[in-house]
Amino acid sequence: MKKPTEPKQEDCCNSGCNPCIFDVYEKQLQLYESFKESGKTDSALANAISQLDYTAFYVENSIDLMNEHRLILFKQCNTSSDAERVVWNPGDHFLFKYLSKELNCTRAYTPVRIKIKEKYDFAILVKRYLNGVVSNHLCDLNIGDTTLWRGPYGHYKLIPNKFCRMIMIAQGTGIAPVYSIIKQVLNNEDDMTNIILFYCCKNLMTVLLRNELYSFKSYWNFHYEVYLSDKLKEPCKYQEPIIPHRLNISHINKLKTFTDGVFFIFVGITKLTPFISKELHKDL
Ligand SMILES: Cc1cc2nc3c(=O)[nH]c(=O)nc-3n(C[C@H](O)[C@H](O)[C@H](O)COP(=O)(O)OP(=O)(O)OC[C@H]3O[C@@H](n4cnc5c(N)ncnc54)[C@H](O)[C@@H]3O)c2cc1C
Repeated sequence: MKKPTEPKQEDCCNSGCNPCIFDVYEKQLQLYESFKESGKTDSALANAISQLDYTAFYVENSIDLMNEHRLILFKQCNTSSDAERVVWNPGDHFLFKYLSKELNCTRAYTPVRIKIKEKYDFAILVKRYLNGVVSNHLCDLNIGDTTLWRGPYGHYKLIPNKFCRMIMIAQGTGIAPVYSIIKQVLNNEDDMTNIILFYCCKNLMTVLLRNELYSFKSYWNFHYEVYLSDKLKEPCKYQEPIIPHRLNISHINKLKTFTDGVFFIFVGITKLTPFISKELHKDL
């Protein structure tokens, strides 16, 4: 085990992550100290991506999802046969290092793994923001370009059957962590957690992971609704739960019927979160 390198100030993405890169450094330092004493490493730490040092990944493919979104697939530059896998838990994020003459910074992105013909180590769903420095850089990457990543970070721990029900409200690329959590619950047939997902999007073209969510519809313990803020112009799939208007107070009120053993997850709805929390706490 190598002594961890202390992060620089620019390595922090300034998004208030928990744990922050500096907390991760402290933890890794403790692990290193105990390794020095015992000579043993934790095999669970084996990962092709590191929390403290940047690892190079090249772009395997970059797929245009229309409406300013891309799915970008990354593969390890070190392709030796003994290369470790890239491992993360649902809900974790990675940090991307952006380097230019004017600015060095990091930004957080959520890794996803979806079924696709290409082989890759991790994928990200990126929204291109107007004047967004890093999102535009990522969306403009070409196949074969090298990028630097650290991770995984996150403190969410999925415990099977801990809750009767998980209610998730996500918007835009906020579907990425939610999708990984849903997939893990549904793939575990001993996990009886019921999941309700409300996914808020602009229009049908911006519904990310649309086919994947639709394929989960057949699970007895998964129910989802996609709320669109624009008018519905395109055809939907058979019994696809598309609601052609914004999520509103009456939908939130329906959730009040679920009281015990409920866990709420809100992702990417920063402006709506205080409003929804207030509504849910009313009358309780
Ligand atoms: C834990 C975590 C996970 C994330 N996962 C993803 C992910 O999987 N995919 C993804 O696309 N993004 C994700 N993000 C957001 C990402 O880290 C960047 O903030 C985003 O790509 C914008 O960076 P930028 O450098 O392009 O924009 P900046 O140059 O920082 O900002 C440029 C302009 O864009 C606006 N802007 C920036 N971010 C947002 C926003 N979120 N909503 C509205 N306007 C915004 C700013 O107000 C500004 O006007 C995640 C963030 C966090 C904290």
